[in-house]
Amino acid sequence: MNSIVQVSVHKSISILLLFFSLTATGQVESIGLLRDHKVKRITFSQHLGTYSIQADSSSIGSLNAQQFIEIELVGGKLALNYNTVSQGSFSKITLTSQGNGTLALISKVPSVRERKYQDSFEISVVGGQMTIVNKVSMENYLCGVIESEGGGGRHGEYYKVQAVMSRTYTYKNKDRHRNEGFSLCDGVHCQAYHNMLRYTPEIRTAVRATQEDVLVDGKNNAVSTYFSANCGGEVCDASMVWNTSISHVVPFLDTFCVHTVQARWTARIPQTTFRSFLVKQYGYPIYDSIMAAQIFTFEQEHRKSFYIHPCLGIPLRDLRAEFKLKSTFFSAHPEGNDVVLVGRGFGHGVGLCQEGAMNMAKNGFTYKQIAEFYFDGVSVKPYGDL
Ligand SMILES: [Zn+2]
Ligand SMILES: [Zn+2]
Repeated sequence: MNSIVQVSVHKSISILLLFFSLTATGQVESIGLLRDHKVKRITFSQHLGTYSIQADSSSIGSLNAQQFIEIELVGGKLALNYNTVSQGSFSKITLTSQGNGTLALISKVPSVRERKYQDSFEISVVGGQMTIVNKVSMENYLCGVIESEGGGGRHGEYYKVQAVMSRTYTYKNKDRHRNEGFSLCDGVHCQAYHNMLRYTPEIRTAVRATQEDVLVDGKNNAVSTYFSANCGGEVCDASMVWNTSISHVVPFLDTFCVHTVQARWTARIPQTTFRSFLVKQYGYPIYDSIMAAQIFTFEQEHRKSFYIHPCLGIPLRDLRAEFKLKSTFFSAHPEGNDVVLVGRGFGHGVGLCQEGAMNMAKNGFTYKQIAEFYFDGVSVKPYGDL
């Protein structure tokens, strides 16, 4: 066999392998990595599989067992070191997985703990910043997101709900970072994707079981999904949090979360601190003897937007932010020198209630029933059918 034939056979095997790895795991997403850190210098080490390295139009070689490359941003270009030998400066470096590849990324400047990601990578310079894009299958991406955001130890049916919500978000927000050269970022701005899936195989089972399922409204449009840890027994109206109502996110009573860990909380704040915040920030009418007597007394049987009375203009979400409260769903009363806040729930309370959904899963509800319980007028459908 002459060398030209050898090269072409090798190439077609690579293409074949790539083809199989993509069709077996679904479509490819473009996720911007380490976006919270403005990376200047980074290493990519082989963890699993083999990678081919392409720098602009040149083939540099391959990344095999325990090999690594280092890329540094210098004068708007990417300086590449391979096997500790400088290869020159380039505009774009591509690391293509030859099937089931995994790389370990360690940002050296700034220093960031190692992260592992699957599939392929493209490194370029966009707007003077090193831009690292993970070209990852939808399945591998969703697995990483669900573990990054939710952690382990949850019911399989609950993971399926998370898979449907994350997949819906991914389709709906594909162009969120288009100007920066990728679809979604890896931070909480989009969906946390701080690593590939490592510890929870049940997550992959859930992602596969829900295949292409997304949440859609009555017109078959993918909907915006929201969730918080615990709604405190009453799912919150979106307009109370974001000043805008969302048709499929409506308030209702949730009995599934009321006996769970984060259902109730208390906080004590010195009366002087609380009073001076209300007076300075909102001009609380302390000069009015009736109002002054009521300043630490507030009942919230159902969710409200404002402290004591809307005419005072004191949003509960401001109090939550100022005093780092678990939720806005609290009542207040004076006790000694403190004001005691007795609260329910954890988080903004809009959309799916995680503890309620987990409880539903344990009680035998399916992921479709759970999703349709928390979002009004939605159904679960395969994306391909829309
Ligand atoms: Zn983002
Ligand atoms: Zn709830």
